[in-house]
Amino acid sequence: MKDPCFALFEPLIRAGSDLLFPPSCPVCSRPLFESRNGLCEPCRQDISLICSPLCTVCGREMCDSAEGDHICGVCLRKVPSFTSARGIARYQDPVADLLHRLKYQSDYTVLPALLEIVKMNDPVLISQDDRIIPVPLHSRRLRFRGFNQALLLADLFFPNGQKVLLRNVLQRVRNTEAQTGLNGAARRKNLKNAFAVCDPCKVRHRKIFLVDDVYTTGTTVSECSRVLLAAGAREVHVLTLARVDE
Ligand SMILES: [Zn+2]
Ligand SMILES: [Zn+2]
Repeated sequence: MKDPCFALFEPLIRAGSDLLFPPSCPVCSRPLFESRNGLCEPCRQDISLICSPLCTVCGREMCDSAEGDHICGVCLRKVPSFTSARGIARYQDPVADLLHRLKYQSDYTVLPALLEIVKMNDPVLISQDDRIIPVPLHSRRLRFRGFNQALLLADLFFPNGQKVLLRNVLQRVRNTEAQTGLNGAARRKNLKNAFAVCDPCKVRHRKIFLVDDVYTTGTTVSECSRVLLAAGAREVHVLTLARVDE
């Protein structure tokens, strides 16, 4: 509980600190005096949101707007293991820059801006029977980076989801090379047997929300979903902050 004295003076202290160290937009450094939104208005306008019509399964943007949402040719040819995948924004700047700074520079000052982007989407409804799982890092990469960006994003997607968040049930048991630069077949081979569910009863019969930062070809989340379903999960819904344009 906050000290009542601090609670009384908190607005004053905050106003003083804002005057001395005005919060600024992490993209363009403009001061954010009035809004505590994490992004200034011009940078918000630069974010390119993913819009319907979408593939009802993988969430790919469809060019044929007359048809509305429908399943895409890729998913028709090979049905993904997950039930659905949805990304919020296209993987372009400023989103790509913000995610890069979080992942590779451990720049936590971008988190309010990422929350802002998450809030541009309708909130994802989750019940107490569902489970949230961040795509895991291998323990060696986790030690090197110090945090899992997918776990941080899971907290942004589901701020009240701590009770249904499973941190260590899905594990990355093989330290694979980065997927960047590999084609589809090489990506699948690279991730073969990379994930395992260490406590299947925690996912059995559950609807799972699988969270990651970027959806590129879907190979990583497909492999995670396959392993979760094999462990008894009922269905897997993938949520990512960004999606690579194809
Ligand atoms: Zn800005
Ligand atoms: Zn699709």
